[in-house]
Amino acid sequence: MFDRKEQVMRKGMGVKATRMVWKRKRIPEFMGDNKAVADFLRRRSPLANTPCKYPDRGVSRGTCSCRPCRETMKAGRWAVVIRDWFLGFKSDSTIESGRNWKPGTVGYIVQQIRRAIAGERLDGIPRTGKKRGRPRNTANVPPNEELVVQNQGSAEISANGSEPLATLSKVA
Ligand SMILES: [Zn+2]
Repeated sequence: MFDRKEQVMRKGMGVKATRMVWKRKRIPEFMGDNKAVADFLRRRSPLANTPCKYPDRGVSRGTCSCRPCRETMKAGRWAVVIRDWFLGFKSDSTIESGRNWKPGTVGYIVQQIRRAIAGERLDGIPRTGKKRGRPRNTANVPPNEELVVQNQGSAEISANGSEPLATLSKVA
């Protein structure tokens, strides 16, 4: 009984370790570039940090269901996962318990981020921050680009029960 349990545990841990090593080795290159990360987040959540649609309700960003609030929260969560998981090598459970996220949240967001990156490759959107000048595909860039960049590092995102997001505040 004990041997069997031990074997299962070892197998479980081995599988997990193998999976993690494989994932960690494949850090998307653009994540090393703060501006590229900010660009990526803004493309995926263009309404992040824009004003709430229902300011009179007086609810928090995390509680409100309007799109600006949902995208603000989403961009914040993605920034955390990029910084702490992809770049910071923290475990899923460490990140989740530190932020009161449900177990599985980090894995789910990692999957979403990977899908977004894969989709952007298909779209031909540059993955690195090495592009110079104005982006060619202006349809993906909101007109208030600079304003949004400025706001990315604001206290609004970092106020979601987390410390300031270094990646974003550097950009701002
Ligand atoms: Zn709202």
